[in-house]
Amino acid sequence: MIDVLISGGGIAGPVLAWWLRRYGFRPTIVERAPAPRHGGYKVDIRGAALQVIDRMGLREHIRCHDTDMRLTRFVDADGGQLATMDARVFGGREGDDAEIMRGDLVRILTEATVDGVEYIFGDSIAALAPHGSGVGVTFERSSPRTFDLVIGADGLHSTVRRLAFGPEASPLRSLGHHIAIFPVPGHFGLDRTELMHVTPGRTVGVYRTAGAPDARAMFLFRSPAGEHSDRDVTAQKALLTEAFAGQGWQVPRLLEAMRDAADFYLDSFSQARLPRWSTGRVTLVGDAAYGPSPASGQGSSLGIVGAYVLATALAEAGGDPEVGFADYERRMRPFAETNQALADRNIKGMVLGSAAQIRFQMLMLRLMPHLPGRESMIRRVTEPIRRAANGITLPEPAPLLALHGAADVVGQDADRP
Ligand SMILES: Cc1cc2nc3c(=O)[nH]c(=O)nc-3n(C[C@H](O)[C@H](O)[C@H](O)COP(=O)(O)OP(=O)(O)OC[C@H]3O[C@@H](n4cnc5c(N)ncnc54)[C@H](O)[C@@H]3O)c2cc1C
Repeated sequence: MIDVLISGGGIAGPVLAWWLRRYGFRPTIVERAPAPRHGGYKVDIRGAALQVIDRMGLREHIRCHDTDMRLTRFVDADGGQLATMDARVFGGREGDDAEIMRGDLVRILTEATVDGVEYIFGDSIAALAPHGSGVGVTFERSSPRTFDLVIGADGLHSTVRRLAFGPEASPLRSLGHHIAIFPVPGHFGLDRTELMHVTPGRTVGVYRTAGAPDARAMFLFRSPAGEHSDRDVTAQKALLTEAFAGQGWQVPRLLEAMRDAADFYLDSFSQARLPRWSTGRVTLVGDAAYGPSPASGQGSSLGIVGAYVLATALAEAGGDPEVGFADYERRMRPFAETNQALADRNIKGMVLGSAAQIRFQMLMLRLMPHLPGRESMIRRVTEPIRRAANGITLPEPAPLLALHGAADVVGQDADRP
C-alpha cells in the first residue's frame, strides 16, 4: 500500500482521500481543528465539479442540502427596499449549478470518507523530512511517522506549502478585501431571502437558507493588503468592529451578535499563485495551491476538481510522484488560472467604490426586469462563469492500483464506469 498523508480535512482533502482510497492508496487526513469545521458561507458547485460529485455518487446528498435561495433584496440604511434580484441570477447560477452551505458540504464529504480513511483531528504537521523513499513527518501532538507522499490540502494559509517551499515562497496575491461570516441567532424575519446593504467600500449581507435554524451574516470590506493572523479570532473580531464602526442599517445589531459567535470566519480575499505546486514527494491541492478567493465563487469547485485530477493522475502513474504530480499540474493549471481570473472581475461588482456607483447599480437592478435585452445581460454575467467552470476535460477514473491489495476498496457506492 502507498501511504499518503493529507493535511487538511476541508473540501479538497476528503475528496482526495475518497479517490485515493478508491484507487487503492492508504490515505490519512490530519486536520488542525478538533472536529470537522462546519463554518462558512454558502458555496457554489458547478461545471466539472458536479461531474466529480456525480462520479462519487453524492449528487443527491448535495441536492438535498441545496440552500434553495429565492430572493436578494437590496436595502438602504433605514431598511427600505432599493431593488430586488432573483437569488440564482445574483449568484451567477444556472442549470444544475448547486449552492450549499460549506459546512453541509464538509459534513457530506467527511461522512463519505469516514470508512477506510484514517482521520487525525486536533493536530498539524510540524516538520517534513523527505528522504529517498518517503517523507518523515513530525506532528505537533502525534508520534512521528513516515509516509510515501504528503499532500497539502490545508487551505489558503497552508502549512505544508510553507514547510515544503519555504516561508519566503509567499505566493498570496491580495485582492485588497476581507470577508467575515458568522451565524446570527434567530430567523431575522427571513426565509430563503438575502438582504444586502451596500455602502462605499463595504457590503453587508444577512440571509437564511431553507430550513436553517439561524440566519448568517456576511461582511465584505476593502482593507489593506497586510496579512492578518488566521487563528486569532479576538483580533479578527476587533478588525471587523473597527471596519464597520458607525455604519447604519442592522450593522450594530449584527456586530453585537458577532461578539458571541463561536463559529466565526474571517479571511482576506487572496489568491495562491505558485510557479509549481509540487516538490519531490510533496504536492498541494485546492486553496493551498491555487486558492482563487471567495470572489471567484469557484474555491470549492476547484478544490473538488483538483483533488479528483490529482488522485487520478497518481493512480495512472502507479503512485510515482514525479510522473503523477507533473500530469496533475499539466491538466489542472490552465483550469485553475481561468477560474482565478474570475475574481478580479467579480470583486468590482461585490464592493462598490462610491455613492454614485451604488445609485447607478440600484437603478440598473430596478430597470432590469423591464429592459428588452434582459436575457442577454444576464448571460453576459453567467457565461464567463459557466465557461470557466467547464474549462477542463476530466480524465476517466483510473483503474485500481493492481499491485497494492486494492480489492478491499471495491464496493464503495459510486457508479464506476
Ligand atoms: C471555516 C471556513 C469557512 C469558509 N467559508 C468560505 C465561504 O464562506 N465562502 C467561500 O467562498 N470560501 C470559504 N472558505 C474557503 C473555501 O471553503 C475554499 O475555497 C474551498 O473550500 C477550497 O477547499 P480547500 O479544502 O482547499 O480549503 P479549506 O476549505 O479552507 O480547507 C482547509 C482545511 O485545512 C485545515 N487546516 C488548515 N491548516 C491546517 C494545518 N496546519 N494542519 C491541518 N489542517 C489544517 C482547515 O481547518 C480546513 O479544514 C472557507 C474556509 C474555511 C476553513
